[in-house]
Amino acid sequence: MHVWKFGGTSVGKPERMHSIRSLVTADAGRKIIVLSALSGTTNALLSIGESLKAGQEDEAAEKVEHLKAHYDSFVRELYKTSEGLAAGQQIIENEFSFIRSLVRIRPFTLKQEKELVAEGELLSTQMFAAYLNEQGEKAVLLPALEFMRIDADGEPELDVIEQKLRDILKPHADKQLIVTQGFICRNPRGEVDNLKRGGSDYTASLIGGAIRADEIQIWTDIDGMHNNDPRIVKGTFPIRELTFDEAAELAYFGAKILHPSTITPAKMRGVPVRLKNTMDPEAPGTLISDKKAESLPSESSVVFKAVAAKDNITALYIHSTRMLNAYGFLRRIFEIFERYKTPVDMLATSEVSVSVTIDNTDNLAAIQAELGQFCQLEEPDYDQTIVCIVGNFSADHPGIASQVLKSLEGIPIRMISYGGTENNISLLMHGKHKAEALNALNAGLF
Ligand code: ADP
Ligand code: ASP
Ligand code: MG
Repeated sequence: MHVWKFGGTSVGKPERMHSIRSLVTADAGRKIIVLSALSGTTNALLSIGESLKAGQEDEAAEKVEHLKAHYDSFVRELYKTSEGLAAGQQIIENEFSFIRSLVRIRPFTLKQEKELVAEGELLSTQMFAAYLNEQGEKAVLLPALEFMRIDADGEPELDVIEQKLRDILKPHADKQLIVTQGFICRNPRGEVDNLKRGGSDYTASLIGGAIRADEIQIWTDIDGMHNNDPRIVKGTFPIRELTFDEAAELAYFGAKILHPSTITPAKMRGVPVRLKNTMDPEAPGTLISDKKAESLPSESSVVFKAVAAKDNITALYIHSTRMLNAYGFLRRIFEIFERYKTPVDMLATSEVSVSVTIDNTDNLAAIQAELGQFCQLEEPDYDQTIVCIVGNFSADHPGIASQVLKSLEGIPIRMISYGGTENNISLLMHGKHKAEALNALNAGLF
């Protein structure tokens, strides 16, 4: 069985939903279809929430009606029969009556905000499943809220998901097309929650891992993973094959085509991930698997495969002369980050200091206070960007770092991490240099 995920732009217009139906039925295999919300909907729902939090209730109500008008016209073009249209209109009425009721609840809490934002995926999947049924396809809608679980830290519980999915799928052995929501889940309190922005990719990979799918396909608006960020750099090109580790680094370090955690469950269960373009289904896309690309030249050659960048990074500078020749010092530092559930992305050390970068600053003040008990801290640097270069960098090969640094000549670099693996070099710089750096690396490495 396959899992196919379609993102916001792939479902964002009635004609796109028509094309998706053609795509999923042209291929004979049984599949689970994971859908995002229509493009723009998640942002619109979050913006309604922002108005409510700011006490702007009239503004929120206006935004709700504006969004509803979009869906009203969408369903008029989506369905081909009057029965289909009636079913579609009923879905819109039901969901918007729930949205209107949410908008009236005071106070508007995080719990309600999560219920509100979940409506995007609840709408798109019901509309699409009803369209498949209208067209006579053997399709069923599986509610993600009945099987997609996260723990108290917001981490998906793959074993629970696997068990629940197995049970919930049992009565549908005769169904070829199984539609479900990306992004949304329940937390340990049983409340509606989500897998963070862009989380539908993660849903697809979790389902693919849970059912040990033959393949996970992520359908989007571009022909696979490009060698650099196409929103910033001109002339980028698709990479045909990546290993799980390479793809995981690129996703984690900012390649927006994949949610940062997407690769983890697929890698854990050995399920290949294929990135495909809904606008150009014949294009080969990118295959991510544990196999080293056959097209790689000999072991000793250097291959720069791709570059990605992660923004809003904070760098912390930690000094202590007690570190000199001491052991256990790094452990003490990292225990603090562990206690505050704050991942460290980059690390550089000298004999008397450690510099680290973090992405999540929710607990920064508490971390600083604890570090301050046994270290001196310099003022952190905010608004930093990690630029990550992925490739095949044999440690015996001369000139790799120099080629990277030469490409970046003239751009101030704050930290460098090289040698953590043979396929990653990371550099920290101020965010204002990001576009220049990505373009310079494109010119210098590819
Ligand atoms: P979806 O709505 O289908 O999830 P996203 O907008 O989340 O789509 O991701 C696709 C977009 O990711 C592309 O349109 C592209 O602009 C952007 N992107 C950023 N970096 C890369 C990259 N390295 N390769 C391909 N796309 C990238
Ligand atoms: N709809 C959600 C978002 O916009 C999830 C997704 O599209 O993957 O973030
Ligand atoms: Mg996305």
